[in-house]
Amino acid sequence: MTQSFESVAPATGEVLGRFPRSGAADVDRAVERAKTAYEEWRLVPAPERGAVLFRFAELLRTHKDELTDLMTREMGKVKAEAGGDVQEAIDMSYYMGGEGRRLFGHTTPSELRDKFMMSVRMPVGVVGAITPWNFPIAIPSWKLAPALVCGNTVVLKPAEDTPLLADRFVELLAEAGVPDGVVNVVHGFGEEAGDALVRHPDVPVITFTGSRETGIAVTKAAADHLKHVHLELGGKNAIVVMDDADVDLAVEGIVWSAFGTSGQRCTAASRVIVHDAVYGELQTKLVAAAERLRLGPGWEDETDVGPLINRAALEKVHSYTAIGKDEGAKLLTGGEAAENGGGFYYKPTVFADAEPGMRIAQEEIFGPTTALIPVRSFDEAVAAANSVRYGLSSSIYTRDVNRAFRAMRDLETGITYINAGTTGAEVHLPFGGTKETGNGHREAGQAALDVFTEWKSIYVDYSGRLQRAQIDNAERPAPR
Ligand code: NAD
Repeated sequence: MTQSFESVAPATGEVLGRFPRSGAADVDRAVERAKTAYEEWRLVPAPERGAVLFRFAELLRTHKDELTDLMTREMGKVKAEAGGDVQEAIDMSYYMGGEGRRLFGHTTPSELRDKFMMSVRMPVGVVGAITPWNFPIAIPSWKLAPALVCGNTVVLKPAEDTPLLADRFVELLAEAGVPDGVVNVVHGFGEEAGDALVRHPDVPVITFTGSRETGIAVTKAAADHLKHVHLELGGKNAIVVMDDADVDLAVEGIVWSAFGTSGQRCTAASRVIVHDAVYGELQTKLVAAAERLRLGPGWEDETDVGPLINRAALEKVHSYTAIGKDEGAKLLTGGEAAENGGGFYYKPTVFADAEPGMRIAQEEIFGPTTALIPVRSFDEAVAAANSVRYGLSSSIYTRDVNRAFRAMRDLETGITYINAGTTGAEVHLPFGGTKETGNGHREAGQAALDVFTEWKSIYVDYSGRLQRAQIDNAERPAPR
């Protein structure tokens, strides 16, 4: 009998459903279906593939409330954020749908007469997509919409914490007109189904979003087949607040970036680097704002902060409170779980007087915990911001345009915000990070197409004779 696992509501501990715990044999079957479907799907004109994505976007709009509600239950984020998650998938599907009528290549003149040259994007084949639970509708759309419009087929291994949402996502794709076999789901655990997908010889592309540690394991497992591996990994994002900042605006941005989605965003602001001149004022205002936040189930209108995803996450986040105290940082507020109907709640937590090298200022906590780091200058702030292994998002609050431009240049992250928090990406710019947040690829925008296509350069010689590049034209005089 197939083994199974449960999806559990983080706000209550209630079991929402049981799902097959797939293994290598299930992955083999899914890849085989995707391989067969590829031979037809790659030949469907790209505008038609795009039209399917338009219909998908329309269906997501129709089902937005249902998906939002389900997300508050299965993943736990609050209603407004869950709606934003679905909206991101809507936006991405429209955007990539439009790509069906672009997918631009290049033409360029040849050095020889009567010869034509162009480059075109070709699909790669079966894409293995492995996704986390924190954006359970948005992230599958970042991967599947570009993969599909480019003519690939997909095997999706969604996170084991959000299988219900993944199923609804794929059902709506089928309803939109994605043919059988073009998108296939394997549920199950990372080390089983996920690893089998990464190692499968007939899956030439792996697109993975998750933790840095899993990203390293995925890269190693994919190496034997020299696969294309696209990684979107963790972050240790900083908000810099300068002495000339609008402190009230900065506090709003910090609260949204540090405690939104209970800190479970790759772009969460888990460090706040603050100029000495406003350090006292910011501490007081931030603590007051954090203590005003109401914890509760995501589906209740008055909730500001929902639960963490599961018990293991709660324990991990709490362990960082002990680590921060041991390191000598000062706990200003929070630092403990909050009892609330069997859910995995953790109080918004603020540490002060952290030093850039402390573990709470270096490691991804993935919970509602942020650390204030005092600095005396802009240069010190930038050095502290850059002192981590990750490079996803950064932000600076300042009214000085020169400082803002220096920050845009010097902060070593894939995304930088000026006078806004570290979170708030839109679908038509590249999304991703530098350093150990990834491996140089980007999701979203035009950049995403590079993950899901191979360039093919095509030369058409219509001279009717042998023409040798670099040889037959080598002796031509240089223009004067
Ligand atoms: P995770 O790495 O534990 O799991 C992610 C996915 O990988 C899951 O589907 C899991 O089953 C699978 N997996 C686990 N081990 C595997 C293996 N050995 N082989 C193949 N697949 C495996 O991450 P998570 O806890 O689900 O998500 C949180 C992490 O994701 C955080 O580090 C966060 O920063 C990161 N994240 C990054 C981005 C981004 O775009 N940069 C976005 C969201 C989340």
